Amino acid sequence: MTIKSLYVMPELFLPCTYECDVSLASRSYYGIGGTARFLAHPGTPAELADLLIWNREYQLPLAIMGKGSNILFSDSLFPGIVISLDRMERMFWISDDELFCEAGADNTLIAEELLRCDRGGGEWLYRLPGQIGSTVRMNARCFGGEISAITSGIQTMTIEGHLLWKTPDEVFHGYKQTSLMENPEIVIAVLLRFPETRTKKDIKLQMEGFEEERNKKHHFDFPSCGSTFKNNYAAGRSSGTIFEELGFKGRREGGAMVSEHHANFIFNKGGATASDVLRLAAEMKTAAQKEADIQLDLEVQCIGLFDEKLLVSCGVNSVADDQDSSKGWAGLLWSPKELSKKSEIPEHLFPQVLIRGSFVGYKGTDREIPPGGFAAVEQLLSMRDAITAPDAPFLRWTTRNSNSALFSLKPASVTPPGTFTDELWQYGVSELFIAHPDFSGGYLEFEMTLEGNWVALRFDAPRKRTLGYAILSEEPWKEYITMVKSEGGFGMELPYRLLEPFIQGESIAMQCCVSTGRGEYGLFPWWQGPSGPADFHQPDHFYPITFL
Ligand SMILES: Cc1cc2nc3c(=O)[nH]c(=O)nc-3n(C[C@H](O)[C@H](O)[C@H](O)COP(=O)(O)OP(=O)(O)OC[C@H]3O[C@@H](n4cnc5c(N)ncnc54)[C@H](O)[C@@H]3O)c2cc1C
Repeated sequence: MTIKSLYVMPELFLPCTYECDVSLASRSYYGIGGTARFLAHPGTPAELADLLIWNREYQLPLAIMGKGSNILFSDSLFPGIVISLDRMERMFWISDDELFCEAGADNTLIAEELLRCDRGGGEWLYRLPGQIGSTVRMNARCFGGEISAITSGIQTMTIEGHLLWKTPDEVFHGYKQTSLMENPEIVIAVLLRFPETRTKKDIKLQMEGFEEERNKKHHFDFPSCGSTFKNNYAAGRSSGTIFEELGFKGRREGGAMVSEHHANFIFNKGGATASDVLRLAAEMKTAAQKEADIQLDLEVQCIGLFDEKLLVSCGVNSVADDQDSSKGWAGLLWSPKELSKKSEIPEHLFPQVLIRGSFVGYKGTDREIPPGGFAAVEQLLSMRDAITAPDAPFLRWTTRNSNSALFSLKPASVTPPGTFTDELWQYGVSELFIAHPDFSGGYLEFEMTLEGNWVALRFDAPRKRTLGYAILSEEPWKEYITMVKSEGGFGMELPYRLLEPFIQGESIAMQCCVSTGRGEYGLFPWWQGPSGPADFHQPDHFYPITFL
C-alpha cells in the first residue's frame, strides 16, 4: 500500500496521512465497493480532531471503517472521506489486569497479547475479524464471549472533535445493540479488563478450538461479512437455521451466494456487487417475514449510496440523495445535510464536556504510570456569553484520581493547600497546557497538586518564558483563577479574558498531563512520544478544541 502523506487532489490537502481514489473493494473483507475519494489515516486523536475540524470547511461526507469485516460498501463512488484508524493500534497494560487498546487494534492481536500475559477471558477474540473499536460499536460476540463483558471504559470522539469517556452501561444496550449505532461517535480507544489468570496451555487450546470451529463452519472459504442478519431470540432458533429451513443454502444473486454450510452467510463467490448482496438479503428478509412470520434485522452495515428500494427491503435507514430520488445514503458518520439541522445552542448544554479521559503513559509502554487518573475540561458558557462576560468562569479543568500513588509525592506541609507554590515539578501534579491552535503566540502551563497547590507559567516558545514571567509569582494569575475542589477531584476555572489571546475563531489547543515527580509521565489526549524523557512543551502536539 502506498500512502501519500500530502497527495494533491484538486486543491484539497487533508491534515493527516491519506490516500486518494481508493478502491474500497480492495480494503474491505467482502471485496466489494466503489472508489472513495479519500481514505484518511489519522495517527493520533489530535490528527483525527484536526481532520474533523478541517472538514467543517470542506463539508465532505464522512464514513468510518475498521477492517471492513462487517461493512457492505456501495458500488458507487464515495465522494467524501472514509476514515480508517489502522494507524491507531497501540495497546499496553495500564495495570495488571487492564489493557488499553487504541481503536485500531486487531482482535486477534489482542487475543495473542492475552496469551502472552497468561490472561483469560479474551480467547474468543482470536480469529474474530475486525478491530476493537468497531467490535465495541457492534457489541460483537461469539463462543459465549461478548465485548460488553470485558470492557471497562470507552473513549469516543464526537463529530465536533470533543473527547468523551463512556462507561459500558452508557454504550452497551444488549444483544448487538449500542448507543454508538444511534449516535455517530467514533470509538478511539477501549479499556479492556481481564481479571482472570490462566495457563498458556489452556488459553492456547481454547483459541485453537475456536479457530477450528470457524474453519469447520467454512467461515473463511469466501469473502463475506459473517452473519448477514442478527438473531431474533424470540424465534427460538438462529437466523442461520431459519434460512436453512427456508431453503436458502446455495441461493444466488449474481456473484453473491448463500453459504452451503451456514445459511446466514452470504459469500462473494467472485465479482459480486453490493446490489447482488442486498438483493439476496432482501429476499431472505422478506421470506423470513412472509413464510415464517419472523422479523430479522440486517447485521451487516451498509455504507454509501444504494438503491433506495433495496435499502427499504432490507430495513436499512437512509437519507434520500439530492440528485436521484431512487437512491439513498446509508451508514454515514456525517453528511453535509447535518448542517441544515444545526440550530441555536441551547443554554442547558453547559457545562459541556470538551475533553474527558484517562491519562496514559507518555511512551505507550506497559504500566508506565499508576492508573486511575482522569482529566476533564468543560466549557461553562457559550462563546457568545463568554465574550460578553469575559471575567466569568469559562473553562473548568478538573482531575480525578482513584489511585493515591499518582499524587503521592507532595510539597512540604508548610505550604498551605490552595496556594501558589513554586517548583511543583518535583511533586505529583496534574498539568494543563493551553496554546493558540496554530501554535503562534506562546502557551500557558498550569500545574496543580491534589491539595490545590498550584503554579502557572507563560512561554513565548518551548521552554522560553515570556518576559515579565521569568520570575514565578502568583500576581499575574490570581485574579483569573478560581479553585475547584470536589470529592475525588480537584482543579480550577479560568475566564475567557485569560484564554482570549489563545483563541482563534472558536478554537484553542490544549494538553492535559500528569507527572508523579518520579520521572513518570502521562498524557491526555495521548500521542506517541519520542523514546527519550517526556517533554510536554510541544504545542504543535496539543489537542485542537472547538468551543460551542
Ligand atoms: C468470517 C467472519 C466471521 C465473523 N464472525 C463474527 C462473530 O462470530 N461474531 C460477531 O459478532 N461478528 C462476527 N463477524 C463480524 C465482524 O467480525 C465484527 O462485526 C467486527 O467487530 C467488525 O470489525 P471491523 O473492524 O471489521 O468493523 P467494520 O466492518 O470495518 O465496521 C463495522 C461498523 O463499525 C463502524 N466503525 C468502524 N470503526 C469504528 C470506530 N472506531 N468507531 C465507531 N464506529 C466504527 C463502521 O462504520 C461500521 O458501521 C464476522 C465477520 C466475518 C467476515
